[in-house]
Amino acid sequence: VHDYQLMLLPQMIRNKFPNAKIGYFHHIPFPSFEIFRLLPWSSEIISGLLGSDLIGFHTFSYVRHFLSSSQRILGYENTFGKIMVGDRLVKIDSFPMGIDYDKYHNSYQLPEVKKQIAEIKKNTGDKKIILSIDRLDYTKGLVERLEAYDYFLKNNPQYHEKIVLIMIAVPSRTQIETYHDLKSNIDELVGRINGKYSSISWDPIWYMFRSVPFEQLTAMYNVADIALLTPLRDGMNLIAKEYLAAKVNNKGNLILSEMAGVAEELGEAIIVNPNNKDQIADALQEALILSIEEQSERITAMQHRLKRNNVFKWANDFVEALSNIDRSVIKDKSKLLTDPIKEQIFSAYKKSKKRILFLNYDGTLVSITKPRSKAVPDKEIMGILKNLVKDTKNDVVIFSAREKEIMEYWFHDLDVTLIAEHGVWIKDHKSPWKTITNLDNKWKAEIIPILEAYVDRTPGSFIVEKDYSLSWHYRMTDQDFASVRINELIDTLLTRVANLDLGIFEGHKYLEIKSLEINKSRAAAYIMADPESADFIVALGDDSSDDELFKILPENAFTIKVGTSITAAKYSLVSHVEVRKLLKEVSST
Ligand code: UDP
Repeated sequence: VHDYQLMLLPQMIRNKFPNAKIGYFHHIPFPSFEIFRLLPWSSEIISGLLGSDLIGFHTFSYVRHFLSSSQRILGYENTFGKIMVGDRLVKIDSFPMGIDYDKYHNSYQLPEVKKQIAEIKKNTGDKKIILSIDRLDYTKGLVERLEAYDYFLKNNPQYHEKIVLIMIAVPSRTQIETYHDLKSNIDELVGRINGKYSSISWDPIWYMFRSVPFEQLTAMYNVADIALLTPLRDGMNLIAKEYLAAKVNNKGNLILSEMAGVAEELGEAIIVNPNNKDQIADALQEALILSIEEQSERITAMQHRLKRNNVFKWANDFVEALSNIDRSVIKDKSKLLTDPIKEQIFSAYKKSKKRILFLNYDGTLVSITKPRSKAVPDKEIMGILKNLVKDTKNDVVIFSAREKEIMEYWFHDLDVTLIAEHGVWIKDHKSPWKTITNLDNKWKAEIIPILEAYVDRTPGSFIVEKDYSLSWHYRMTDQDFASVRINELIDTLLTRVANLDLGIFEGHKYLEIKSLEINKSRAAAYIMADPESADFIVALGDDSSDDELFKILPENAFTIKVGTSITAAKYSLVSHVEVRKLLKEVSST
């Protein structure tokens, strides 16, 4: 899928063809988050693009902007340019587009090009040629370029009659009114400058509003002493690459806007800010007097790069990256829950007389969504749980770090066992909540003021106070900022918690302080102590703290980690989507 007008298409294709490999390439710049967030449909655009398997941009800056917008607008984290979307991995990378280098480099040999070169030279004599070629578009900075040229001529009368600016504006989007206005503006400006400086034998600007055939284009590239390409914003700018490729005698100068994507590859060019008249005038001055050796050195270095990174390499790299996308993101692939293992689970389930199903909540049964309050159990998961508890052989245990009140509110209709607050509280089916250890919570008074100070200093963060634990949540905070604060906070807390017999635990987007006595495995062990022990146990969890539980379960238990990290569990599943599928399948066996 190519370019911005089709940004919603990848997700539409994904909806119709879930298993298709979809690549998207963005040919224009991707703006920074501060600009992108202004769009009322910013989240729809990101979701549309994330329907792809591979998203390509011209430069690494655009990749950074996209990743930061995805993270800040929809909460998608990335690891080395990869984002998990449901159970899919999306790769975001830069593929700077190249040109057909040899086609431009060898063009001077074509008879028609030779003829055109001679023609231009005849008309320009020994004047230095400055070349400007673009589509007539407001992003190309044509008005600013003409104003800078005017400014140069005003301040450098010694160059009058000695230079000529050949400006080609290729008609573009001519049906749109603002483009008409832009054209009138440019026509007028060219007229004014020519009127101001022309003599009988000299016009400082030769202006053409039309497209030119390949032979004429490359002839101009060949003869131009300077290419003046100063777009206000440009995804790449292929003209700059074509101009360099066409230089067979290694004489020439490229003045390039820092706002063009191509500037990230062509560091040897004279780089300018397109809004800075003084800088453009200085660059023209510099280019007009640069020694032949220096020109040659710069052009050779850039040509070398362009020859290697040509358009065929660009296409190959992209297609290769797309075909190499590995859908399975589990680090330890030997643990992937494959179909034969699923069959084993189903068969053990069928044969068993008493079963325990340990199910973690956030990240396992539901996705980790941005605001914590939005992760309420939806219809689908409630249906799945209802089906499971209908079978009297099943003891369904839902465990979570959440408060007991919210768990009871959500699941009071279901005949399940609940473990709340990481194992502090247990509610065994219809019996009331109880704790399994004698815990003390006087320490909270000492820790709360510290956490409050961090909430004040970290907008978007908040404290969750539970009976026997405190946690500082930062999922609504700027993530770069939060990562600085976390280290500071751990540092501050470490000295305090040591004497209080407390531990600091890092969860997904929160830091929790609780008694070292509390953990999920202790609560699970309590449940397992039932003399009428189960002959089928499955445990599903996504957090590193769930590993404690996996470790204490008997050898024949099926322990399954949700997510990509290394785990003590025997098996892994990619996301909550697959968990739901597994639970549906198991209950219908
Ligand atoms: N071009 C063309 N006809 C012309 C002038 C230019 O076909 O009269 C081509 C030029 O060779 C280049 C492309 O148009 O390949 C312009 O690409 P660029 O990336 O510079 O700008 P865009 O139009 O994509 O913003």
